[in-house]
Amino acid sequence: MANLILILGDQLSPQLSALAKADKHQDQVVMAEVYDEASYTNHHKKKLAFIFSAMRHFARELEQDGWRVHYQTYHPDNPDKSLEAVVARLTKELNPDALMTTECGEWRLHSQICQWHESLGIPVVIHPDTRFVCHKEEFAKWAKGRKQLRMEFFYREMRKKTGLLMTPDGKPEGEQWNFDANNRKKWSGKPPAPAPFRVEPDAITRDVLQLVNDHFADHFGSSDDFHFAVTHEQAQQALEHFIDFALPCFGDYQDAMSDHEDWLFHSILSPYLNTGLLDPVTTCEAVVQAWYSGRAPLNAVEGFVRQIIGWREFVRGIYWLLMPGYAQENRLGNTRALPWFYWTGDTKMRCLHKAIDASARNAYAHHIQRLMVTGNFALLTGIKPEDICDWYLAVYIDAFDWVELPNTLGMVMHADGGYLGSKPYAASGKYIQRMSDHCQNCHYRVQDATGDRACPFNALYWHFIDRHRDDFANNPRMTMMYRNWDKQPEQRRQAIISRGEWLLEHIEEL
Ligand SMILES: Cc1cc2nc3c(=O)[nH]c(=O)nc-3n(C[C@H](O)[C@H](O)[C@H](O)COP(=O)(O)OP(=O)(O)OC[C@H]3O[C@@H](n4cnc5c(N)ncnc54)[C@H](O)[C@@H]3O)c2cc1C
Ligand code: SF4
Repeated sequence: MANLILILGDQLSPQLSALAKADKHQDQVVMAEVYDEASYTNHHKKKLAFIFSAMRHFARELEQDGWRVHYQTYHPDNPDKSLEAVVARLTKELNPDALMTTECGEWRLHSQICQWHESLGIPVVIHPDTRFVCHKEEFAKWAKGRKQLRMEFFYREMRKKTGLLMTPDGKPEGEQWNFDANNRKKWSGKPPAPAPFRVEPDAITRDVLQLVNDHFADHFGSSDDFHFAVTHEQAQQALEHFIDFALPCFGDYQDAMSDHEDWLFHSILSPYLNTGLLDPVTTCEAVVQAWYSGRAPLNAVEGFVRQIIGWREFVRGIYWLLMPGYAQENRLGNTRALPWFYWTGDTKMRCLHKAIDASARNAYAHHIQRLMVTGNFALLTGIKPEDICDWYLAVYIDAFDWVELPNTLGMVMHADGGYLGSKPYAASGKYIQRMSDHCQNCHYRVQDATGDRACPFNALYWHFIDRHRDDFANNPRMTMMYRNWDKQPEQRRQAIISRGEWLLEHIEEL
């Protein structure tokens, strides 16, 4: 036999570099559902079911295409509990010349695979992951010598590189790079939000759901009502569904939150993009085409393209530029453990309850819930970065270390000192009130900062500002906050700080 090709659960792309370099008549593929990968964190049941089912469907497609695939389905009694053990067994059995793979998306496994040649006794060839617009080396070159890394400038480079939303003479369509200012509307129920794309589980998915319920019953979330796409064809249909029904309003309501609607006008495409069921550039091309043909406005289409070739590529670049040290960053010195209600949703704070409850049911919450509700609360209360990063990695169907870590540790927790944002996204209850209808159904009163029923976000916000004066007072984007705080009468400041202290001491009771 020639080579063994290892394909991981987030590498389900027919154009994967390791496959492109292989020969289906000689080389053989290995894919495995293993205990170590399924249980290194408390992965949501729907996340496990999605990845296992998509892997099984992809293995079947490869076999139909003529590949020989060695596939290990999950069972707790399997003797090979790690990918390395599976590959070692097959290496003994098949005696390949080399192991070929595509670089994986997280440092933990990457650093292990880099050592495998020693235990396997054969060369391990790691091909670059070509499914991104910006290669790691290209990002490192762009970042070199820059004092601050700003997504907006990187994004413009990616627009030029891909030609997405560029005129033939090299200008941005609509004469602006960014239409974000148009994308901040509150949603009042109209126009109605479309139902999300649904696929009824087939026999493979039903088997996997049974397996997850049998063997991962103690993992977070519910496996009920699983309706995610698990093949390339279905993921393509999900993209078309988004373009037809949600894209026209995606921009306007991108930052909105609702007490009644889980998905609003978001694309729900991240699980497919992150596992290889959709390609990012062709996805953006289809969305851009909707603008050229008059089916969606430019603010929506530009906003979507920016999330993918801007933010998604940018966070990946930061991850590989700064790992492994990045994961240890804690520049604000946080020490508090994650409150238990992040796992139960059992809190009187309506906005948090709704975001956590949706996460448990759907393995999904949209960006503003992640950033401005669960994230904002963790930032204001000084949760340890490792605790909150582990939570985000576990609960979302799209969570993989390379994208989860920079978003949580950098964008939300500001634990990296500002690579992902020039100021922390800290906000009081006013922001949540402006962008949602949660507050009108809440136990707490959003207009109050002190008193038993005062919205916890208010006092916690000022407590955060006050206790991090040394970190932020000289940040030009924070000057106004400090001026506002310092203007408050001393007595009022004292009352707010006392309320903040009380909230921090009684965090589990909120
Ligand atoms: C604390 C925190 C943790 C996050 N963890 C993840 C994660 O583990 N995996 C993940 O894919 N995204 C993560 N995000 C980014 C973003 O919230 C999700 O990509 C988005 O909610 C997925 O839903 P959607 O497909 O409906 O997105 P849409 O709102 O429809 O956006 C379109 C696409 O843009 C991309 N995108 C948007 N924002 C970002 C971003 N900040 N970083 C990277 N890609 C982005 C996604 O691929 C997404 O599918 C996180 C954000 C925060 C604040
Ligand atoms: S009042 Fe405060 S805690 Fe309640 S929903 Fe509004 S922002 Fe959230």
